[in-house]
Amino acid sequence: MPRDPSPAASPLVGPRLLPGALVLRRDARTLQVGTAPGVVVRDRPGLRRVLRLLDGSLPLGHLSRLVARDVPEFTDDLTGTVGRLVAAGAVTLPGAPAEPRVAVRHDGSSAGLAALIAPAFGATALEPDVEVVLSAGEPGRSAFEVLATAGVPHLPVVLLERSVRLGPFVVPGVTPCLGCLDALLTAYDPAWSVLVPQFERPRTVTVALPHGLLLRAAAEAVAQVETLLAGGRPATTGHALWLGPGQDDADLRPVPFASECPCGLLAR
Ligand SMILES: [Zn+2]
Repeated sequence: MPRDPSPAASPLVGPRLLPGALVLRRDARTLQVGTAPGVVVRDRPGLRRVLRLLDGSLPLGHLSRLVARDVPEFTDDLTGTVGRLVAAGAVTLPGAPAEPRVAVRHDGSSAGLAALIAPAFGATALEPDVEVVLSAGEPGRSAFEVLATAGVPHLPVVLLERSVRLGPFVVPGVTPCLGCLDALLTAYDPAWSVLVPQFERPRTVTVALPHGLLLRAAAEAVAQVETLLAGGRPATTGHALWLGPGQDDADLRPVPFASECPCGLLAR
């Protein structure tokens, strides 16, 4: 399965005004940065123009030269001003660039869903902490054996005919796997075990799910991964979540360890 080649966002190299914050005037002598709750700043000549330059794209040295050239009315010490704005919480400084931690993989037919999910995680990690594995139609199970053996937590997301299934989110050796789901489905329909090997065949599947359902699935997949990265337990560990076909349909069902599945032996 190809990995989504989504480009990384431009790296921040300099001070940046709090993202999303408006610069507003409170009165003749004070400005306010942001509204929730907002940082009050004493106004000085040129300050508003200087604030507009704080977009994270310029290191402080470059910024000083730019301000000296283009905002001559600003006569304060820029380093001191930026320091006070940082202390007040109105400006952030670049930290160490975050390492990409997530890979989003997809088959050709689920590229559209990958394009919705991948930007949430920035650049694709080459040695990811987590993989999101997308497929249109039931995926071949062998791809997941590699991830289980490598100990990489992975979230299968499957585009079905009228719904999307997320999970079980597998933390190898800790939580039930796709084989456990197959055992559960085989308990309901013994022929399921005959179908499973056929999922390995390469194919192209037409995806005609509503865009709203794909957006829901993408948002849910991102939330599940972020919960795991934050040290929490996503709802889809030990469970599978079916979204759709109705707008609000969400069916979360437990997937217990199957006695015959090797993953359960590892976890005990
Ligand atoms: Zn299992």
